[in-house]
Amino acid sequence: MTIVTRFAPSPTGRLHVGNIRTALHNWMFARAHGGRFMLRIDDTDQERSEERFVEALHQDLAWLDLEADGEARQSARFDLYQARFDALVAAGRIYPAYETSQELDLKRKIQLGRGLPPIYDRAALALSDADRSRLEAEGIKPHWRFRLDHGAPIEWGDMIRGHQRFDPATMSDPIVRRADGSWLYMLPSAIDDVDMGITHVVRGEDHVANTALQIQMFAALGSTPPTFAHAALLTGAEGKLSKRLGSLGVDQLREAGVEPQAIRALLARLGTSDPVEPAVDMQPLLAAFDFARFGRAPARFDEAELMQLNARIVHQLPFEAVRDRLPRAMTPVAWEAVRPNLSTVTEAADWWGVVEGPVTAPAPALSADDGAYLAVAAEEAAAIDWDGDPWHVLTQRLKECTGRKGKALFLPLRRALTGRDHGPDMAALLPLIGRDRALARLRGGSGG
Ligand code: GLU
Repeated sequence: MTIVTRFAPSPTGRLHVGNIRTALHNWMFARAHGGRFMLRIDDTDQERSEERFVEALHQDLAWLDLEADGEARQSARFDLYQARFDALVAAGRIYPAYETSQELDLKRKIQLGRGLPPIYDRAALALSDADRSRLEAEGIKPHWRFRLDHGAPIEWGDMIRGHQRFDPATMSDPIVRRADGSWLYMLPSAIDDVDMGITHVVRGEDHVANTALQIQMFAALGSTPPTFAHAALLTGAEGKLSKRLGSLGVDQLREAGVEPQAIRALLARLGTSDPVEPAVDMQPLLAAFDFARFGRAPARFDEAELMQLNARIVHQLPFEAVRDRLPRAMTPVAWEAVRPNLSTVTEAADWWGVVEGPVTAPAPALSADDGAYLAVAAEEAAAIDWDGDPWHVLTQRLKECTGRKGKALFLPLRRALTGRDHGPDMAALLPLIGRDRALARLRGGSGG
């Protein structure tokens, strides 16, 4: 059997951490098993769906390198939904109901007041043809409910949650279509899963109750349900996924300097029993991907963890992977010199600014003693051979002629040469700064 998964976002906003994770799980499961990963745009809600978000979805998935093997749009499939709907109406599995939402509210309140669960009472099923004709003559258009089969419990083996069991008698017959003819999510999704040959539905555990209902829809459509995996939801560092974290869109993550590899590496492992690792390549993550390793407890998404992982990813990125995002004059050697000090790729430009100058030494100013030391350093620097390893040659000579060592030897030089107390390895940086700028900086000029 070829595994076919799907990611089914609604184009009502940018992808955020939660749904990137769902996309990633589906993509990984398909890739790990040589299967197919489909994108389904859930745009039946024509008021809330926007074309710009469909475009953004494509961009976001491309940036994350989670491209789909095929794509479907629900808005292009209304004829199919209508045909399946007509057949289910004819088979008595979908029925018209005429209650207004106020009437339904009232029914629920009465049930709750009597200590009963607020389940739809199926009053609409008791209507005669004459009742329906009368209601429709009054101009009342029906909405449509899927009639659950109360005959047997709904059961499935969830790849993450294990054995699941629901009693259909405790659930309301779900509304599948509104009075204006528009579709709710539930039925078109099941129709598409059948039609697209989806073998595995991987999504968040907020869909578990929907799955119970959809399992009966698959049966009513004459199909075996796919296999399901419902992942525990993410929570934010504060306890639950805060608005801010929950709404961090791909565009914002990208602007914050987060690499797609960091997002993938974190979200592939979050909530599993495997450690988060700074994997630039998906291969090791794919090799270990297994729903059996997913936990039932909510997983904690922590921005700080993402940024730490990001730094460890950046430290591995080759020049070719980042050259478009670096100052134009920056060379592979320069990238490798500054890379270990970066948290994000954009910070490379700051260090390139330090190389090109001008630089200003940080406060507090140097002591007279250090000033004299730098004057000696400038003389020595003028005398050495700059083609080899100028930093080690220079510091060795200064050690011998001044007797300085450790911080007293190195820090005044670093400050004068870079304007900072910390930074990349000076042995790598000094050849980039070069002789002329270095001499000017040691002599107290700006060295730009
Ligand atoms: N559009 C639905 C959602 O975003 C899809 C759910 C599903 O995976 O079936 O929640």
